[in-house]
Amino acid sequence: MGGIRNIIAGIFCCVLLVFSLQAQDSARLREDIRILSADCFYGRGNAYQGEKLAAEWIRNELKALPHLRPMGENGFQKYAFNAFRMEGEVVLKVEEWELNPFTDYRIAPFSQTTQKENVPIVKVDASLLMDTARMENFLMKYWTSIKRSVVYIDGVQWKNDKKYSKESIQKVLQSLQYQNPFQSIGIMVGVDELPVWGLSNTDFERNYALLYVLRRQLPKKCKKMTLSFSNEFYKKETQNICFAIDGAVHPDEFVVFTAHYDHLGCMGDSVIFHGAHDNASGTATVMDFARYYSEHQPAYTTVFLLFSGEESGLRGSKNFVRNPLIPLDKIKMLINLDMFCGGDDGIMVVNSTQGKTKEMVDMMDTINATKHYVTAIKRRANAANSDHYYFTKHCPAIFIYTLGGKYGGYHNYTDTCENCGLNNYSAMFALILETLQQYLHN
Ligand SMILES: [Zn+2]
Repeated sequence: MGGIRNIIAGIFCCVLLVFSLQAQDSARLREDIRILSADCFYGRGNAYQGEKLAAEWIRNELKALPHLRPMGENGFQKYAFNAFRMEGEVVLKVEEWELNPFTDYRIAPFSQTTQKENVPIVKVDASLLMDTARMENFLMKYWTSIKRSVVYIDGVQWKNDKKYSKESIQKVLQSLQYQNPFQSIGIMVGVDELPVWGLSNTDFERNYALLYVLRRQLPKKCKKMTLSFSNEFYKKETQNICFAIDGAVHPDEFVVFTAHYDHLGCMGDSVIFHGAHDNASGTATVMDFARYYSEHQPAYTTVFLLFSGEESGLRGSKNFVRNPLIPLDKIKMLINLDMFCGGDDGIMVVNSTQGKTKEMVDMMDTINATKHYVTAIKRRANAANSDHYYFTKHCPAIFIYTLGGKYGGYHNYTDTCENCGLNNYSAMFALILETLQQYLHN
């Protein structure tokens, strides 16, 4: 019985293997995206070493490909930056009412660890923040009680107050991310729409917690709260992943594929940000190009760079440009992929309006006009919105992302593998490959 079962299992595995050996197959791509966005990598961020575990997995996958050679320290380029990691239980109770993390409230990722029960809530009129003299008076009068409280600001009421412009409110709200004018334990802002969770401004420590809460989820009576979460500020040791295949004709000139493999990690144990579209998809695509070239030796040395630290401000790519493992002025073309699922409405090419990159995207247009790989190829001027950016000062570099189609929410736990449409993947892969071949031949 067992024997037969083993044989059947063996045949099944072989079928799977043959299937997965076909490069650019979207089933193989989905499998890589599924693994990269799985719970076991904790959103490829700081919590529970998720990013590090993902890096090890990617390195092993690339090491297994024939003809690929690791660059740097065994395929890693190590560097470090300051970061936060939010691990463990996250609790917010207002009076006896427990709110749902992430869907009802979001703790800013730079918030100081807070473990407090029954903290008084002090409601403060938002206009105070616009009036230095009144603010000073207020603080002098209530100093001792404020510093043991959480200040509540009704952002919805404030937004609807015609006295203040949207811009001025935005500016003041923004400033709360850098300092707490109340010197309270924390600041809680009531909103009608929760802000996107992201890792900007996480490079220095604060001595307060900042949280945003849906005002409609707050109970009428709102005098005491329990807030508990842990968020450690630490020096994060991290790594870019760097591999190459030597070129058959031009070993000293380079084509580079890049993508960031990091994502947002977790908001404690309450939420894992899976980051399937952003950017397991780009990572898996770069791995797929590596698989392709490992079977078809390229004319130019082809380099595969998977960066960490993108979500914290393009740190990995910035570090690589400062400490390049190849001469940057010998890069013929760099293609960065970030958010590569979906694509029913085509693709956007960033930094494609002038120079060498324009030339290449013109070729892409011509190819697409006869082969109809994608619905549309749109162009944008350069922007610091992904890892191509720091390279653009040294070599031709573009950033491609998809338009339309199916993918989960942006910077949300709903960005999962199941929500990723890969129906345009093979065509997009073919378009890039063909364009690059033509561009390099000219
Ligand atoms: Zn991204």
